[in-house]
Amino acid sequence: MTHTTRRIARVYARGMTADASSHVADRFRPFGTTIFAEMTRLANEAGAINLSQGFPDFDGPAFVKEAVGEAIAAGHNQYAPTGGVPALTTAIAGRWQRDTGLSLDPARQITVTAGCTEALAATFLGTCNPGDEVILFEPYYDSYRACVAMAGATPRFVGLRAPPTDAPPNAPYTFDENELRGAFSDRTRAILVNTPHNPTGKVFTRQELELIASLCVQHNVIAVCDEVYEYLVFDPDLPHIRLATIDGMADRTLTLSSLGKTFSFTGWKIGWAIGSPELTAGVRAAHQFLTYAVATPLQHAAAAAIERGDDSIRDLVSHYRATRDYLADALSDLGFGVSVPAGTYFLMADHSPFGFADDVAFCKHLTSEIGVAAIPPTAFYEHKDLGRHLVRFAFCKKMATMEQAIERLSRLKS
Ligand code: PMP
Ligand code: GLN
Repeated sequence: MTHTTRRIARVYARGMTADASSHVADRFRPFGTTIFAEMTRLANEAGAINLSQGFPDFDGPAFVKEAVGEAIAAGHNQYAPTGGVPALTTAIAGRWQRDTGLSLDPARQITVTAGCTEALAATFLGTCNPGDEVILFEPYYDSYRACVAMAGATPRFVGLRAPPTDAPPNAPYTFDENELRGAFSDRTRAILVNTPHNPTGKVFTRQELELIASLCVQHNVIAVCDEVYEYLVFDPDLPHIRLATIDGMADRTLTLSSLGKTFSFTGWKIGWAIGSPELTAGVRAAHQFLTYAVATPLQHAAAAAIERGDDSIRDLVSHYRATRDYLADALSDLGFGVSVPAGTYFLMADHSPFGFADDVAFCKHLTSEIGVAAIPPTAFYEHKDLGRHLVRFAFCKKMATMEQAIERLSRLKS
């Protein structure tokens, strides 16, 4: 049987007509098109201000851009080592040492990847076997669910509950300890912890992380920590804490991050995974065949950003604190229920006062009639009812963009 006849046979077996998706492998069918591509497409079509997909409408520091040209001129143009160029892995290890007091062997404990997205894929593909279980908090960043499926593993979900409507605006999303305990089984291989958390803006507390750590140790489970928003935190009482630094976790944690959010270069797709040599071997087993290595001159520029970027991070956090506060106050004046995030550059709001059937209907109306695009958060939920009343706005924009968005949103009637 040729490939095409096999495909047609499968399509008929499913009772479907051959359409644009009929070449898609079964394991990807549940996921459709990622909500970020979908909403940015709709925003562009409608000429809407795009507060959906999270990317800044400004560039990162000039010295980092200049470093790319310098790296190209200096001849850094051939394949990098699969683990990453030593200039970058050394810079990452230096920052890790400064932030945590822990030292790393850059050659055996750091892997440079195509953004955190590839670090996630390489981690699940390289460390999980079919039948393993992976615990995800929901709402979750959409690629986790797809990566777990690619690895043939099974997700188990633990809910992060929105604060009650009468709670103060900065009340955090929380999870139930017993629900978390109940999600661990003898098949659990990994738990994914994303802090600061997209889309809720939650920063996990030390107490929460200690509970997660104790369960990981008790059940011999590894932790995959997505810390791409590690520096975007706004509340001095809720600093970013790395699970890898908690007792018993250093050798059972992979910490993933990237350059995109911290330095406002989301399009560069430079990320990394940090972990013990044994866990790194798992990540690299997959990474070598996914991409082998990522853009050499961009890795050199990323090293410059990490080594010389402290002032730019400070300025960025102060800018995002201002756009966060502006957005939170303005949305609350317009009648939204607002949950003020302690970290990330996203804010979740309750749109129910406006009377729409669900988040998808609300975001469609917002994009096409009001001219502002936002994310319908049910894309991040397995249990869709938990997210239908919510909408996610990005505030990683110039203040003028935020003001223009609010001017448009004021046409909404509650
Ligand atoms: N994890 C989270 C929580 C994210 O929000 C994103 C989005 N950008 C990523 C991972 C992917 O990061 P990158 O763009 O570096 O691939
Ligand atoms: N992390 C970004 C967000 O949550 C989107 C990244 C992407 O488009 N893949 O909006």
